[in-house]
Amino acid sequence: MTQKKIYLDHSATTPLHPDVIESMLPFLSSRFGNPSSIHGFGREAREGIESARIKVASALGARPNEIIFTSGGTEADNIALLGVAEAMRGRGKHIVTSGIEHAAVLYTCRHLEEKGFSVTYLPVDRFGRVDPDAAAKAFRKDTILVSIMLANNEIGTIQPVAEIARAAAERGIVVHSDAVQALGRIPCGVDDLGVNLLSVSAHKLNGPKGVGALYVREGTPIKPLFHGGHQERDVRNGTENVAGIVGFGKACEISSRVLEERRKNLRAIRDAFQSEVLGAVGGVHFNGHPEHRLPHLLSISIENTAGDAVVRELDKQGIAVSAGAACHSQSVSISHVISATGLEQRIALGTVRISFGLNNTRKDAQAALSALVLTVEKLRAMKDLEESLGGRRCT
Ligand SMILES: *Cc1c(COP(=O)(O)O)cnc(C)c1O
Repeated sequence: MTQKKIYLDHSATTPLHPDVIESMLPFLSSRFGNPSSIHGFGREAREGIESARIKVASALGARPNEIIFTSGGTEADNIALLGVAEAMRGRGKHIVTSGIEHAAVLYTCRHLEEKGFSVTYLPVDRFGRVDPDAAAKAFRKDTILVSIMLANNEIGTIQPVAEIARAAAERGIVVHSDAVQALGRIPCGVDDLGVNLLSVSAHKLNGPKGVGALYVREGTPIKPLFHGGHQERDVRNGTENVAGIVGFGKACEISSRVLEERRKNLRAIRDAFQSEVLGAVGGVHFNGHPEHRLPHLLSISIENTAGDAVVRELDKQGIAVSAGAACHSQSVSISHVISATGLEQRIALGTVRISFGLNNTRKDAQAALSALVLTVEKLRAMKDLEESLGGRRCT
């Protein structure tokens, strides 16, 4: 009997919703026109894009003309940071962010440092939260931009973006937030958050890969990264990914409609799983904020295991999750997020992220629990054996 595979890695990516696939199909066949063309083929494609823009805008409580379609979350983050830095460099060259941002923000900030900007990386508490007062204290006369993610992709912690944005607005500082993990899982209203810029990506909410958007509040100074044919209000030039954009619109429409219900379901599955893990596995530590946390995600550090070994063992049993630490025969790299929360290195080594999604059920979570219990027993027994033989500390 082939075993059913269970996907519990929805923070990495999600399967396409069937209605999303259906919405895209015409744009992969008969409605192939270039949206910039004047003729009927072009107008059909344009219509697809503009109705998707309305849906994405509506999911964010934004106006359609404030939505710039991009190739995904990474590009949206890059345009936000590089585009504002370029547009405002005459006013100042200081940027504030956190130490636990996604690589798309963190490495863009490092790049800006190489270009002569200075960046303050705010610390987080043990739950992975930025202190809004610390953010306000970090603002200087030459601060032009603050970028704090709405929800973290590794531990699920939700940041006090609205409070930070209020302090920034008083000083005329542009506010960006990476909401890629948040959209479809918690409310992401741009006015409630008070942001100027917000990054989102379709493939994290049952839409297609390779498409996302940057919300740009009217009047926000921003320069493009690509120069070309004046698409997307000249902020993102290049012929649009029409089918992808249409699928993204559909994914937003669906997720806005079922947000509350989905949130409740996911949280019930996750919370039950969390208490079962606590009861069944010794030496576990849960990462992220107990309340201010995404509903679908659980980050667990399991003592005397290695995260990547747990992932491989679970994969053999047909269960897909991801690790928070990568261990190669000699060197160990613990994620910058877990490190920033100050978790002891020894415990941080055994970090796994389980993220539930669309088709997951309580039964899936129960199967994952049984597999996890077996895996932890096996790895701990192997570790004991290796240590008694004087072997490596990390497998
Ligand atoms: C996935 C992710 C991204 C990158 O989005 P892509 O569309 O895959 O480029 C950025 N930020 C966060 C928080 C993410 O989870």
